[in-house]
Amino acid sequence: RWPAGHLAGRAPLEVLSSVFGYESFRLVQAAAIERVMAGGDALVLMPTGGGKSLCYQIPALCRPGMAIVVSPLIALMDDQVAALRQLGIAAAALHSELGYDEADAVGYALDRGRLDLLYISPERLLSPGMLPRLAKLDLALVAIDEAHCVSAWGHEFRPEYRALVSLGDMLPGVPRIALTATADPRTRTDILAALGLADAEVFATSFHRPNLFVSAQPKGSELGQLTAWLEARRGQAGILYCGSRAKTERIATALAGRGVPAVAFHAGLTPEQKRSALRRFRSGEEMVIVATIAFGMGIDRPDVRFVVHLDMPDSPEGYYQQIGRAGRDGEPADTLLLHGGEDISRARFWLEQSGAPEQQKRVSAQRLESMIALTETTACRTRALLACFGETLAVDCGHCDNCTRPVATFDGTEAARKVLSAIYRTGQRFGALHIVSVLRGEDSEMVRRHGHDRLALFGIGRDQAKGFWRSVIRQLIARDALRTGGEYATLSLHEPVARPILRGEAPVLLREDPVVATDKAARSSR
Ligand code: ADP
Ligand code: ZN
Repeated sequence: RWPAGHLAGRAPLEVLSSVFGYESFRLVQAAAIERVMAGGDALVLMPTGGGKSLCYQIPALCRPGMAIVVSPLIALMDDQVAALRQLGIAAAALHSELGYDEADAVGYALDRGRLDLLYISPERLLSPGMLPRLAKLDLALVAIDEAHCVSAWGHEFRPEYRALVSLGDMLPGVPRIALTATADPRTRTDILAALGLADAEVFATSFHRPNLFVSAQPKGSELGQLTAWLEARRGQAGILYCGSRAKTERIATALAGRGVPAVAFHAGLTPEQKRSALRRFRSGEEMVIVATIAFGMGIDRPDVRFVVHLDMPDSPEGYYQQIGRAGRDGEPADTLLLHGGEDISRARFWLEQSGAPEQQKRVSAQRLESMIALTETTACRTRALLACFGETLAVDCGHCDNCTRPVATFDGTEAARKVLSAIYRTGQRFGALHIVSVLRGEDSEMVRRHGHDRLALFGIGRDQAKGFWRSVIRQLIARDALRTGGEYATLSLHEPVARPILRGEAPVLLREDPVVATDKAARSSR
């Protein structure tokens, strides 16, 4: 192994080729590295597999002193350290799963300036005495990986990340670089504020992954759909995401019974079981890992050929990150989202039940609605997904399910006009629930209080079930004719799109929704 600091003063490009064996930087890498080399702060937004690590690893080597890398996941830390050591770099990790002797050895090397990179968990970093100890050293930079964990709006909030705001004061003059694969504008603003990175320059790459084939299907016979999918992909490695631990176990067992090599993976396993599952998965064995949505981080393997969601994720960010674990080698990979009305009601129910502060609940509800809209869209799914991150794809992707197969649709122009009128006539101050009541002519306290039963359009949607109207509303949100916002997820018209529909100038094709089908069936059997 090389002694620490032996690359200090070298040019980033030279280190890229001599140490990492790559010829050129990806665009954003070069810019972000230049910024940190010059001592500035940075926020790097890149999709999983984009190459975030080099953005701090290269300046860590080229700048004098040791780099501190804050990371929330022990498995990720250990991986990175092992990979760096393989390249001859003096790297080590400090976290809670380290034995006393190991931690001691790292501490010894640390105090003597013998490390180029120290990976550390936020708990360790903020433990008594640690920051003053580090402040005595010559420091190249502080990297904050998975920076979205600091955002309470994020889907992986870690309260301990909040304390990292003190790094600016504790380690003055040390450049800080925050990195994340979560890119929605709100999380971005939140990271900058919560980490005190007001002066950071933001470096973002496109989140488009052209090798990912996105598709979604309404849930029928879950196991049947899954078996058919796996049948067509024998011998490939894949990840199946479930909404609960119990379900991962159930699915893994069912698959194993059908001769599919499947292993469950969730937070309830012992560290030993987790390690062994990861080891098998990473070894390149042909297998399927059945994981909970909440416990996907760390499942890392370049040749994952497919990702299936057996339950709907609760946000586009989570969904994107999970499907992003497929095809990291750049080869084509397939993704399938199985969704059903019960997913949606369950997610909404848990959201209502959760003890989270009101404001946070509201944001979660909006994320959930965006996710629902994504599953419902009849337009290019890749495009709709990227739109969630504020990114506009110039043309349809051409290879998602909606691009390749025509969707079962119906002429929803009249239905859309009814919805838009109802929202307009009631003053654009109500949520979906109330609008549906008005359309269906339902008697409720709210209807009477606002005199909405006296509106001409009260009850014009009586002939359709609630689920139908909810689906129309979601699809209008999906196509941006409606926007939701505010404390009560109030629906309002997005004029440029809504006007032409209201005037009857823009026909509206809507997806035949599985919820609609169920409701119809229920009514005709009554
Ligand atoms: P992220 O942390 O953004 O998910 P990684 O840093 O793990 O991504 O990088 C993903 C893969 O891309 C790694 O195998 C890495 O070695 C490779 N990579 C990163 N930058 C470059 C580059 N400039 N040229 C070639 N390969 C690169
Ligand atoms: Zn498409």
